[in-house]
Amino acid sequence: MSSTSDVSLPAGFIRALGAASTQEQMLRVTADWLPRVLETERASVTLPVSAHDLELYAFGGSAEVTRTNLRFPIARSMVGKAFRSRRLVVVDDIVGSPFEDLLSLADAGLRSAITAPMTSGGRCLGTVNLANSQPGFFSATDHELLQAVAELIAGSLGLVQAAEQEKVRAMTDDLTGALNRGAVLSRLEDQFANENARPSLLFLDLDGFKLINDIHGHNTGDQVLRIFVSRIRSAMTDSDILGRLGGDEFLLVVGDDDAGTRAEMLAEKILTMCATPVVIRRLKIDLSLSIGVASPCLGVESASDMLADADRAMYRAKRSEAEMVVADDEIRRLTAMLAVIDHDLDAAMVGQMMTFHYQPVRELATGAIAGVEALIRWQHPQYQAIPPPLLIDRIEATGRVASFTRWCMQTVARDLTTLRQAVPSFETGRIGVNLSPLQLAMSDCADIHASACLEYGLAPSDLLVEVVESSEIRPGDEAEKTLHKLADNGALIGLDDFGTGHNALGYFTQFPIHVMKFDRSLVGVLTTNSEAYTILKVLASMCQELSIAAVAEGIEQEEEMLACRDFGIEYGQGWHLGRPKPLDDLVELLLSESTLAVADGFAAASAFR
Ligand code: C2E
Ligand code: MG
Ligand code: MG
Repeated sequence: MSSTSDVSLPAGFIRALGAASTQEQMLRVTADWLPRVLETERASVTLPVSAHDLELYAFGGSAEVTRTNLRFPIARSMVGKAFRSRRLVVVDDIVGSPFEDLLSLADAGLRSAITAPMTSGGRCLGTVNLANSQPGFFSATDHELLQAVAELIAGSLGLVQAAEQEKVRAMTDDLTGALNRGAVLSRLEDQFANENARPSLLFLDLDGFKLINDIHGHNTGDQVLRIFVSRIRSAMTDSDILGRLGGDEFLLVVGDDDAGTRAEMLAEKILTMCATPVVIRRLKIDLSLSIGVASPCLGVESASDMLADADRAMYRAKRSEAEMVVADDEIRRLTAMLAVIDHDLDAAMVGQMMTFHYQPVRELATGAIAGVEALIRWQHPQYQAIPPPLLIDRIEATGRVASFTRWCMQTVARDLTTLRQAVPSFETGRIGVNLSPLQLAMSDCADIHASACLEYGLAPSDLLVEVVESSEIRPGDEAEKTLHKLADNGALIGLDDFGTGHNALGYFTQFPIHVMKFDRSLVGVLTTNSEAYTILKVLASMCQELSIAAVAEGIEQEEEMLACRDFGIEYGQGWHLGRPKPLDDLVELLLSESTLAVADGFAAASAFR
């Protein structure tokens, strides 16, 4: 390789290259300066596009660079030889040369060519090439100059490429190679800003991915995600952008969808591809996914509106039989409503617009009110009564679980204090507080319960914790730890909606249960369904055996109440025994019933006597 010490390059060229921050800018600077440094008829650069090919970027006048899509095999071209050997290659007469890339030069009437490798940090990044119509046109000085130019460009190119790779890395999800959340959302914003070519969206979510991880381990889970992504990719075109929003959620920004049908077709294609099970080692894993589709249409004013539409549609698909749901007006109305609800949540908690209503739990033998259950209520100014399960869902979806739980425990503890001051005979009455699986999974859930009790001078057993039976609580889970901590602190635990979940009996050996609440789906059909009758009867005697206090929920009729009592179920709750009511009304009710002795708290089953 020739020494570059005795050639000097223009300071302007060096400065301009140093200032270029992208590969494209660099190539333009080179196209501008190269003909001034080395006068010739043809100049170009090649850059590798694969392990086997170099692609040609041709330079024209006025710093013009054209990406030609012409590819030359590294093994059989002149540029390839310079690239492989990292040496200058000179061809004084193209005629008769064996190199493939020189054929087109010969056709264009060119006769001599030289190519210099661009090497930086021990790597060859491409080549710089010159050609001329005269045979043997390039002198030894030209060779040296070209080598110097190639080294100069290589230095800058190495830096620019490293910076660009770093940028790409910062935007990429390491596991799958898809864009990461931030990057895909910002690309979505960019594309949405182009009013004439707004994209459509696919929101993709793998069903039961947590289970795959739990059963087969995280390595297998990771591989499933990679294979899933490669299947999505094979359905995509260059105008689509794939990003991982997190966990098993992916977003596909679908370009070129003027007719609004491409997104659906793409979703169908992905579903077909995912119908084949994934095979990892000898393991066959079925993929099931839910896709929400959203398109830009009237009423969708921002990228985040459209994203929310796609999210809601996916959510609906997940909860239904359908694998794919296309966002429609109803979903859009729901999305708009959720946005308002989400926005108003904090103010509603602080401003006491959110309150608790309390539903009596009665001792069936005497009819006495033994305790109450706290049920969240929010009368929204625009949407009226927000159903509690929806409210909890929004609390969880917007990351407000901790503040909500704190607010709940404090409010209920304060209300119980007020209640006991107004109705001294409620001294032993308890309040049941519902906790969702996510609330339960907070590591400080038990502490929040304990400190609310402490602040209001209550015993931990005064606030009974109701846990839904359908919560998936596995040994070692944070939720299980919370339950043990609560019990250790002296709190009582009730298993809510018993009869609707899947793991019912497993829970009895896993953590302490003091109260069992039979769901309305059993109680409500008691008088018409003989199976429900028998099941409830057996469960009631099981509770007695285990010294667990039994509560029948959703009693709407006298006969249901009588049957439950006959089974030996000690407590009942339901419209027939009292609707949920505001604290003041509950005080009135309790005072009006003062002839009835308040039973010893509905959790005070034989286990605690
Ligand atoms: P849950 O804990 O099983 O509460 C009982 C639900 O049944 C309440 O519905 C109550 O109003 C309703 N109910 C009571 N008696 C009858 C009856 O005789 N017939 C019928 N058809 N229904 C009756 P609500 O208040 O709509 O709450 C629904 C669910 O929302 C609750 O079920 C509970 O899982 C959840 N929830 C309510 N408040 C809270 C809360 O503060 N935190 C959490 N995490 N969840 C809550
Ligand atoms: Mg409950
Ligand atoms: Mg219940």
